[in-house]
Amino acid sequence: MPQNSPPNPPKPSSESAATGRPEPQGTDRWYEKGLPFSCTACGNCCRSNGEYSHVYLREEEVGTIAEHLGLDPALFLKEQLVVEDGWITLQPDLPQCQFLDGQGRCGIYPVRPIQCRTWPFWEINLTEATWRGDVNTICPGSRDGSGSEIHGPEKIEGIAKATEDWYEGRTQVWPGESHEL
Ligand code: SF4
Repeated sequence: MPQNSPPNPPKPSSESAATGRPEPQGTDRWYEKGLPFSCTACGNCCRSNGEYSHVYLREEEVGTIAEHLGLDPALFLKEQLVVEDGWITLQPDLPQCQFLDGQGRCGIYPVRPIQCRTWPFWEINLTEATWRGDVNTICPGSRDGSGSEIHGPEKIEGIAKATEDWYEGRTQVWPGESHEL
């Protein structure tokens, strides 16, 4: 994603099991031929989009962002973030991301949350109905015929799994740009 595009995704947690896992892997994958995605820098995913209104952070990310902003992590958490049901999030009730600047660019791009690095290839988005519904509606760069880069199923699933593992605490170190967009 470019410097102006952190997304507002749904909780990448056990909720996703109830709201839609990807189709079975292998030749049954509806996205076997890949899915289009290139960011057009429209900024839609940085704005509140119904269910897609939360950006979740692990504690490590709180520290990294606070350091980037020159703030004490505890104060940053207390004054600028929300803790809800055991999850740390950016401010969820704003019309757009609190770090979007006046030019529509991400103010914390080098340390943006993992969710922002992996949109739109989250497990919750990998049902055909969700992809062609919510994702295509929010994100013009994900639409068929957009001319976007086509990403193969292994890459898509690698990013989705890494994102789930990250937020579920199954991995302690983010694998890096190889699992980002
Ligand atoms: S909605 Fe899609 S195209 Fe628009 S800024 Fe976000 S990722 Fe980029």
